[in-house]
Amino acid sequence: MIHGTPQTGQAPWRAELAAAVCDPEELLRALALPEDLLPAARRAHRLFPVRVPRAYLARILPGDPRDPLLRQVLPLDLEEVAAPGYSKDPVGDLGAQAVPGVLHKYEGRALLTTTGACAIHCRYCFRRHFPYAKANAARDRWRPAISHLANDPSIREVILSGGDPLMLGDDKLGALTRALEGVPHIKRLRLHTRVPVVIPNRVDEGLLDWLGRTSLPVVMVLHANHAREIDEAVAGACERLRKAGVTLLNQAVLLAGVNDDVQTLAELSERLFEAGVLPYYLHMLDRVEGAGHFAVDESCATGFLEALRARLPGYLVPRLVREEAGATAKLPVLAVGAGASCR
Ligand SMILES: *Cc1c(COP(=O)(O)O)cnc(C)c1O
Ligand code: SF4
Repeated sequence: MIHGTPQTGQAPWRAELAAAVCDPEELLRALALPEDLLPAARRAHRLFPVRVPRAYLARILPGDPRDPLLRQVLPLDLEEVAAPGYSKDPVGDLGAQAVPGVLHKYEGRALLTTTGACAIHCRYCFRRHFPYAKANAARDRWRPAISHLANDPSIREVILSGGDPLMLGDDKLGALTRALEGVPHIKRLRLHTRVPVVIPNRVDEGLLDWLGRTSLPVVMVLHANHAREIDEAVAGACERLRKAGVTLLNQAVLLAGVNDDVQTLAELSERLFEAGVLPYYLHMLDRVEGAGHFAVDESCATGFLEALRARLPGYLVPRLVREEAGATAKLPVLAVGAGASCR
């Protein structure tokens, strides 16, 4: 979903972005995967296009169709399966826009959808059907978005989301934060981003310079689902962010075939901590059309959490939550009895 062609003299992360694998055939070839996956991959690619940055591709083990990192990015025939209860807008975002680009569902926090673009396309994403072109504060719609925030003194925290806010250049981020800094009741800036995990060189001098300049405390909620997503380059990016004073948290999605077992979840928490990141949320999958094969049973999920609590310090246990349209917060998922057949 990147528009325009890269220019010369650009930041290395932009070249990395431009070099991402966006073709299902190339993805299969690069990872030595069976050719018979291609017809289905092509069809699913038409529903939601493939996008895998090279830095992420390099962490996938070749030749294994069940690799947990691959599973997050490989289009499958399973995406064509219609599942009851799955919709195009499972969390009610389309009805929650206060003004274009502003989602104000929770008290004190407003979320800005700054751009529709992402550095990676995650097959389970609840935004795979979201009409970003129509709901995007970046397309000179910042003015109404900012004035909505400025006119509501109950808003204390602004969350930059998307898409992924770190797809914006540092100049745009700088302009946006300067406008937010001018609103006295805004006390915190939060970014929800997967970019430092999938293109760690995005955390460059320009970004750190912007972070160093803003007077707002910055919280960055990263998105990694598996310990193997956090290699040395990602850990380095996290260290640079922490040195710039950023508070680092992680949200993961509980995904069948990716991280739906206690050992994998425990390793994720441990690896996050090594990189200076605390686990924040573990989300139940949003029921978005085409992602039903990633669903994990609630009773399994609560069982995993109980087992995690038994073996990790409390601060390494994420909060298991689900999102419900119309709710006033993310809802905690509570134990509902023994799971039928959990991993
Ligand atoms: C998830 C979300 C938030 C943030 O919720 P926290 O519980 O504060 O992390 C804020 N606004 C919207 C619309 C959200 O979906
Ligand atoms: S980076 Fe986040 S918003 Fe973008 S496709 Fe992945 S899960 Fe969705």
